Amino acid sequence: MSEPAVDTKELDRYECRACGYIYEPEKGDDRRNVEPGTLFSKLPINWRCPVCGANKKAFANVGPIGQVSGFTENIGYGFGVNKLTPNQKNVLIFGALALGFLFFISLYGLQ
Ligand SMILES: [Zn+2]
Repeated sequence: MSEPAVDTKELDRYECRACGYIYEPEKGDDRRNVEPGTLFSKLPINWRCPVCGANKKAFANVGPIGQVSGFTENIGYGFGVNKLTPNQKNVLIFGALALGFLFFISLYGLQ
């Protein structure tokens, strides 16, 4: 029997819940000599987050690459703006202008 094909489900990325580092199996972890293609489940038991040193238990499965978590949120945000009434949009635009003006004034005040 040859080795079974790589289960794509196992190419899930894992995010460190302590610092947000994401382990990507396709890339491995060159800082700790983990070769690209190493599944998270195949990492040594003593492997730790290269950023903050958290152990494997601190990692959460965030799904395979391509499912960027922020992406769906951005779509939701876009829909949210589109649902606003014209009046609410005016408030948003005016608010943004006021903020820009305040920012300009604060810069001017620094000089
Ligand atoms: Zn970490």
